Amino acid sequence: MKKYIIALDQGTTSSRAIIFDKNKNIVEVRQKEFPQIFPKPGWVEHDPMDIYSTQMAVLHEAVAAAGITSEEIAAIGITNQRETTIVWDKKTGEPVYNAIVWQCSRTSAECEEYIRKGYGKTVREKTGLLIDSYFSATKIRWILDHVEGARERAEKGELLFGTVDTWLVWKMTGGKVHVTDMTNASRTMLYNIRELRWDPELLELFGIPESMLPKVCTSSEIYGHYDLPGEGTEVPISGIAGDQQAALFGQACFESGEAKNTYGTGCFMLMNIGEECRISEGKLVTTIGISLKDRVQYAVEGSVFVGGAVIQWLRDGLQILEKSSDSEAAALSVADNGGVYFVPAFTGLGAPHWDMYARGAILGITRGTTKEHIIRAAVESMAFQSMELLESLQDESGVSIDRLRVDGGACANDFLMQFQSDICGVKIERPEIRETTALGAAYLAGLATGFWGSLSEIREGRKIETIFEPDMDEEERAQLAADWKKAVGRTLDWAK
Ligand code: ADP
Repeated sequence: MKKYIIALDQGTTSSRAIIFDKNKNIVEVRQKEFPQIFPKPGWVEHDPMDIYSTQMAVLHEAVAAAGITSEEIAAIGITNQRETTIVWDKKTGEPVYNAIVWQCSRTSAECEEYIRKGYGKTVREKTGLLIDSYFSATKIRWILDHVEGARERAEKGELLFGTVDTWLVWKMTGGKVHVTDMTNASRTMLYNIRELRWDPELLELFGIPESMLPKVCTSSEIYGHYDLPGEGTEVPISGIAGDQQAALFGQACFESGEAKNTYGTGCFMLMNIGEECRISEGKLVTTIGISLKDRVQYAVEGSVFVGGAVIQWLRDGLQILEKSSDSEAAALSVADNGGVYFVPAFTGLGAPHWDMYARGAILGITRGTTKEHIIRAAVESMAFQSMELLESLQDESGVSIDRLRVDGGACANDFLMQFQSDICGVKIERPEIRETTALGAAYLAGLATGFWGSLSEIREGRKIETIFEPDMDEEERAQLAADWKKAVGRTLDWAK
């Protein structure tokens, strides 16, 4: 009798395994951190063997702790840090270099060169992305150009490329299966999101042999099987999605106009825009949102660099908070922000401003300003930045929304959620299960094996914990939004 689905959540700083039962209750969670490697300023690497070994360790530990056997496991789903690039030897399975992590900016100069030569438009039209070192293409190229003999071996068909999902499946199937899913493929800057295939012109442009690339599948199908050590029962691996798309799915954003925002260290907002590929013209990216056998849906995506991290800074940097969660009571202890605005542009500003020279500022301070006003302004900054994302998402996609689904650590803050609802004039829906990324991977794996029957079964089974409704008069809302924008204006171009 199949009773469980396991989600493997391979993140940037840790690997996690979460066991769900049929009612989507979490039965067991195990987590392991692994080393971050910083060979030079701005460079970030992981050891691919650490990624694999921590991921398998938490899987085995979770299964043992739950006291279940592989016969009871219906399927395994994988969600992963996106864009991170691994190249390995097809025969030996040895990586030829460390994993180059999404955050790594070693190829910024090459990207600027591609932009200078005018390739931005072609890349945007085909992939929905902006040319940036963040995406995999120039990372693969870097490995081929800098590891001795790598390009030659790649051209002879001896090397394989994969994002983290691909690497895990290849290892878990003993080198039999070399696949990825469309959501991960759409972050490589090599995948044509209109034609749903690796794009020959882009492979040529970035100098990447097609033989290295994995087969691209949907996010919900049986790719291969994993044999839990000593058990002899093969468990299907049947779901793959990049972390943000997994969260979109875990939040059941199955229709155009449904959107989610994740409040973690940064904030990530994705909106399903349906089956027509509309490439965002401005400063957001278009990506594959959902990929199932009978539907491919696109999403627009925007992110802010400093979300919950501003609260961490108040706690660890300024030391005016003991715990992040104390920010809620502090914010509520004052009637309003007292005219104080906190723009946390610590490393510049992301969407929609894209100003790497912006720097943080606290504005509007008077003699009456207290530490609580500053804390409140910091919490409000997460909502104001998300408001700007939401405005851009709606403007660029032409799709408007009336509710936003939320997850991530800081969505526990009721004051923040109410303020978000007020400032955007939309309903905020907070689910009971906040592990939406893992849940999304579990749903995808469970749908492929019939563990869960349909999207509507998933949608109907969703439990919403709280709905926050807008409750602010329009004049006040407009004034706050205008003052925020004025504050942002004062931080732009600062460090130039
Ligand atoms: P990540 O997955 O990016 O590491 P999490 O989803 O765990 O992040 O969220 C943690 C972030 O949310 C931290 O930056 C923390 O400061 C912030 N945070 C956590 N709880 C609260 C809270 N109650 N109010 C405001 N911020 C919070």
